[in-house]
Amino acid sequence: MCQNHKELEQNPSHFEESEEVVAHTDLSWESHRDLIRGMRFFDPHIHMVSRTTDDYEAMRDAGIVALIEPAFWVGQPRTGLSTFKDYFSSLVGWERFRSSQFGIKHYCTIGLNSREANNEPLAEQVMEILPLYLYKEGVVGVGEIGFDDQTAAEEKYYRLQLELAKKAKLPVQIHTPHRDKKRGTERSMAIALEHGIDPSWVIVDHNNEETVKSVLDQGFWAAFTIYPFTKMSNERMVKIVEQYGPERIMVNSAADWGISDPLAIPKTAVLMKLNGISDEAIRLVTYQNAIDAFAKSGQIDVSDFENGLTIDQSQKFNGNTILRGGQEPGAKKTNTLIIK
Ligand SMILES: [Zn+2]
Repeated sequence: MCQNHKELEQNPSHFEESEEVVAHTDLSWESHRDLIRGMRFFDPHIHMVSRTTDDYEAMRDAGIVALIEPAFWVGQPRTGLSTFKDYFSSLVGWERFRSSQFGIKHYCTIGLNSREANNEPLAEQVMEILPLYLYKEGVVGVGEIGFDDQTAAEEKYYRLQLELAKKAKLPVQIHTPHRDKKRGTERSMAIALEHGIDPSWVIVDHNNEETVKSVLDQGFWAAFTIYPFTKMSNERMVKIVEQYGPERIMVNSAADWGISDPLAIPKTAVLMKLNGISDEAIRLVTYQNAIDAFAKSGQIDVSDFENGLTIDQSQKFNGNTILRGGQEPGAKKTNTLIIK
């Protein structure tokens, strides 16, 4: 194994793997976007701290009205507890404000992710501060938690956080492992049931054709991350909705600091439309199901975003604005991206 590959394995985003490149025909986003004009989208998994203002603008223009940002791996090992504090604080503070400045309602889930559970001395400290954030406004779940390498430490902190979720009456957002996914998914669900958690409170993420049936059969929510070049492409997503229908299925971008696409949901909606999937089924898997799952937190009021947020870019958060160098609020740019 070459050194570069080894480093990649140790520092993956959600888009880490190099499986087969899916053969596809590129469709122009600009010439198809009118197909979904007027539709609203809710992205229940996207890491906006890693994304730019261009992304926010493009998402808003494409109809994304609200999103959930799960706490996750920042790409390199943490040096101490204070970086977790600052990260969690930004999810409930600055990033939430930044999103509002682009007209998108921001929610988050808070948790110790599986990869970081393997640093046990630090994990112990993180567990102590989690309750300080779980009860904040806009926190709609404990996440993303679960398994990565499926170690004993990961299981320990997954179980402890399931108990935190029960206590806080919050849904659970499960990250399923990229390696040995089927076994990790089954194990995640079995443990959640063992802790007495109702499957309708658990969103199992990063599903594929191998895991979806069991997740749905056991009563959990099945979330799918659209990978722009490999793995779960939006073409495969269309086939899954055709086969299983829209009930308890939701689509997300999981866009992060790796190569990823914050417009994965609207683009998948275009492809569903082109394949004859009904508007109502598209609405369920790209908007309503995510709301129904995470609204169990008591934190989501759709009237906050269903008619659009008012944007006032002259607002400040702790004295800071998103405007740099004397820019005018509401300056417009165009965006050209393609459907993969
Ligand atoms: Zn994620």
